[in-house]
Amino acid sequence: MHETDIIVIGGGTGGYSTALRAAALGLDVVLAERDLVGGTCLHRGCIPSKAMLHAAELVDGIAEARERWGVKATLEAVDWSALTATRDDIVARNHRGVEGHLSHAGVRVVRGSAALTGARTVRVEPTGTGADAEAGGEWTARRGIVLATGSRPRTLPGPAPDGRRVVTSDDTLYAPGLPASVLVLGGGAIGVEYASLHRSMGADVTLVEAADRLLPLEDADVSRHLTRGLKKRGIEVLTGARLEQAETLPDGVRVTVRPARGEPRTLDVERLLVAVGRAPVTDGLNLGAAGLATDDRGFVAPADWARLETAVPGIHVVGDLLPPPSLGLAHASFAEGLLVAETLAGLSPRPLDYATVPRVTYSSPQTASVGLSEAQARERGHDVVTNTLPLTAVAKGMVHGQGGMVKVVAERAGGGGAGQVLGVHLVGPHVSEMVAESQLIVGWDADPADVAQHIHPHPTLSEAVGEVFLTLAGRGLHQI
Ligand SMILES: Cc1cc2nc3c(=O)[nH]c(=O)nc-3n(C[C@H](O)[C@H](O)[C@H](O)COP(=O)(O)OP(=O)(O)OC[C@H]3O[C@@H](n4cnc5c(N)ncnc54)[C@H](O)[C@@H]3O)c2cc1C
Repeated sequence: MHETDIIVIGGGTGGYSTALRAAALGLDVVLAERDLVGGTCLHRGCIPSKAMLHAAELVDGIAEARERWGVKATLEAVDWSALTATRDDIVARNHRGVEGHLSHAGVRVVRGSAALTGARTVRVEPTGTGADAEAGGEWTARRGIVLATGSRPRTLPGPAPDGRRVVTSDDTLYAPGLPASVLVLGGGAIGVEYASLHRSMGADVTLVEAADRLLPLEDADVSRHLTRGLKKRGIEVLTGARLEQAETLPDGVRVTVRPARGEPRTLDVERLLVAVGRAPVTDGLNLGAAGLATDDRGFVAPADWARLETAVPGIHVVGDLLPPPSLGLAHASFAEGLLVAETLAGLSPRPLDYATVPRVTYSSPQTASVGLSEAQARERGHDVVTNTLPLTAVAKGMVHGQGGMVKVVAERAGGGGAGQVLGVHLVGPHVSEMVAESQLIVGWDADPADVAQHIHPHPTLSEAVGEVFLTLAGRGLHQI
């Protein structure tokens, strides 16, 4: 039995950030990872998907160059193996970076599958070979254990993913190419991003969402502008629609979808991409040995959200294993890792405020939001005032020519003006890079008058944000 201060189970963004911060605070840390440090985000999620979406933007740019700007360019072909080689190189360099940080910080990475054997003990079965094989064993944690085992794609009853015709986001990365036609099931961020990617690469795309709009947790205007943008690009969007049947064919899938109204539709597609959410991973973790259990959705819920600590003192949870209000986002898991490491080191970090975590969809058009939607604000009893501006109202928005909008939701102040900013919602090109300002506005409880003091650079897309705040502060320049 070896001893250490902290054992972290899972080396994804939640786990490795916990380990790095705890080591920086002088604690002795063991990190058990059964696959590759970096986890879903680095190897199957954020990074490879955004690399491919960047290539997709370049492809779209060729059409825009030709159609809008008189640049006589044509797309010859997309060399998928060259594209994926660049993507994989980016992932590999980041992977080496994470390994380097962990090693430099003195974190002991144990390559193996970890299971709890008690409230302070963990057994690691080696999954590697050679030198790695010696790394397993049983460990006692003097200060605590951090569960960071993440999530995997959720599937539905019906045809199981076979990696070829019925696929998940994971399979899409390893496929030898993209199909000529795809039905994407699920209109959340992952489904929307993959629908966008396939369309840019020339596929016929049908995007099916059971709720009555895409990104159902976002502001209704975000869904509306996003749907308009996707439809304009030729993506068929079916909302309020349910998968009724899916039958695998030798070269594809026959899918029957029941729309909200009207008769069921049957489509033959080369691939059915199932993107209906993520399921927490606890298999083999042996939670019962520490007196823990999952909730009815499979998450491990903290008893104390301020410390992200379970009902068993000293056992903490970070990342996708947490139920809402945690967000299943890498940047949320980084913050959770910092919080738990600092808690275990005896500090008193500020509890997280999930309401101020930005949410981004990297499709074309992109969406980026922070804070409450208009409907959520009203449900919570706020007297709300909003202002919305199309991105094309500013010159740079016209240059991009892709539509989009800025919407701000604020508390109504005395005299009918706008008080505290409750939410900011953006749709359009590059809005993922524009949302950080809004995060500070919402996080620091700013009023439009505070924001309107700050001059936005001209000409930029961010001017649209500035203009909305000027208007809400009663000083609008270009909005009539
Ligand atoms: C296609 C896609 C795109 C995404 N895009 C974004 C994005 O743009 N921005 C964003 O913020 N988020 C994005 N996400 C979400 C993001 O990837 C996750 O929120 C994040 O990876 C969660 O980190 P985690 O540490 O909780 O879990 P994971 O990254 O899943 O890591 C868990 C790790 O634990 C290991 N493990 C599991 N069980 C054991 C065990 N018993 N013993 C040892 N090791 C174990 C696993 O091997 C894994 O490496 C995306 C996800 C997907 C799928």
